[in-house]
Amino acid sequence: MKATPDKVTLIGAGLNGPLLAILLLQRGFAVEMYERRPDMRRVRISAGRSINLALSTRGIHALQQAGLWERMRNIIIPMKGRMMHSISGELTFQPYGKNEAEVINSISRAELNIALIDAAEEHGATIHFNQRCTGYDLKTGEIKVHDEETREETTLEAGVVIGCDGSASAIRAEMLKLSRFNFSQQYLDYGYKELTIPAGPQGEHLLETHALHIWPRGNHMLIALPNIDGTFACILFLPFEGADSFAELTTPAKVEQFFHARFPDAVPLMPQLVDNYFANPTGAMVTIKCSPWHVAGRALLLGDAAHAIVPFFGQGINCGFEDCSRLVEMLDQVVADWPSLFAEFEKDRKINTDAIADMAIENFTEMRDRVADPRFLFRKKVELALEARYPELFVPKYAMVTFHRIPYSVALERGVVQDRILAELCESISRVEDMDWNKADRLIKRDLVPLEFSQ
Ligand SMILES: Cc1cc2nc3c(=O)[nH]c(=O)nc-3n(C[C@H](O)[C@H](O)[C@H](O)COP(=O)(O)OP(=O)(O)OC[C@H]3O[C@@H](n4cnc5c(N)ncnc54)[C@H](O)[C@@H]3O)c2cc1C
Repeated sequence: MKATPDKVTLIGAGLNGPLLAILLLQRGFAVEMYERRPDMRRVRISAGRSINLALSTRGIHALQQAGLWERMRNIIIPMKGRMMHSISGELTFQPYGKNEAEVINSISRAELNIALIDAAEEHGATIHFNQRCTGYDLKTGEIKVHDEETREETTLEAGVVIGCDGSASAIRAEMLKLSRFNFSQQYLDYGYKELTIPAGPQGEHLLETHALHIWPRGNHMLIALPNIDGTFACILFLPFEGADSFAELTTPAKVEQFFHARFPDAVPLMPQLVDNYFANPTGAMVTIKCSPWHVAGRALLLGDAAHAIVPFFGQGINCGFEDCSRLVEMLDQVVADWPSLFAEFEKDRKINTDAIADMAIENFTEMRDRVADPRFLFRKKVELALEARYPELFVPKYAMVTFHRIPYSVALERGVVQDRILAELCESISRVEDMDWNKADRLIKRDLVPLEFSQ
């Protein structure tokens, strides 16, 4: 696209902002970024921000497109599957994919953020830290910026503005004032808290390194993702109120008692449990949907600002990076000007971001509850057997979302059909060897068309 102005202002230097900056700079645009936080390379990040992310195919593809994947390789740990911890301490490993190549990658949010900010600056981005966007004039295109250190207020000519400012986006808040702007936010009744399993005496991991550990307990769960320094970043998910809730765990004794009863094998690994518990904030989880994402070719929302999702499919940043990737692919190929680009982008993406938002909520029940159910584990085995025999027709929903770039909306639709087929095939068997393959062949060929893979 040959478009003017050539200057793009990005609000937010979280995860999507710097990646998008690099992709735009590689295409000859000048990029300025405004970030409300201090530069995290110089100031220690606050508690509650060192959560790990699971990076998978969509995110990796976008990083490859920007030429950044190789430099991320030394800060990731591949996780081959889920390691379930029962109350009695029994471990069950369930691979994520059909082979060793189908893994998800644990990466520290802070390390990823720093690597992206470094790379954006190397590519020529100007990043203004401690600068909070407090307003955006949708008519004149001017932004208002508040300096968090000096408290000075500035009004700036911004060119095209892209709001990469996360789930509480200031740019979206301005769009909300427009007539016919659709907006919904849905909070879960559950919150999360960051905890840590330190490294062993030799800097080693105290649990299996290449797994995402889960302690599924019905209405609550603990998970742990490995870090390259031998620690595990853990997240405790609990209801805010009621039984087994954050509201109940108000004293060190209650926290210890709860952990001893529910996650007994984790307790000896968490000597700072009580300190971590009371030092770290309790976070909320929200699904945000809105439209339109753009105003007159002047402003666009991208990433969590346009579509925040709950974390249970591990797709928030993978989806955001896919946004960045799609936007520049469309910029390269089809579109004549900013208004058409933004409209086409939303048309292409919204159906898919809505789909992953819904699947992420669905997956919450799966993670906290169903992964401990033997019938569920059996169905996973049947899915893998079906995929081995029909690789172009039957790909498990988790794999379509995580290991392919099949549009999320297609994964959602096919997932419903596949669930029905699975239910019929698993109805009266408990061993894969007993599967009625004639029936499987008939159902699959009748109800599913071959998939189009983008890789
Ligand atoms: C507990 C948890 C676990 C998660 N796990 C995963 C996972 O495993 N895999 C995955 O893919 N995703 C995961 N996610 C989701 C992922 O973190 C988000 O999708 C991702 O961070 C969104 O990136 P973003 O750049 O759009 O927003 P953010 O990362 O939130 O960045 C927004 C940036 O904008 C800045 N900002 C905000 N307001 C302003 C303003 N007014 N002016 C200037 N700057 C501003 C913020 O300081 C921030 O730096 C998880 C999320 C949570 C909460």
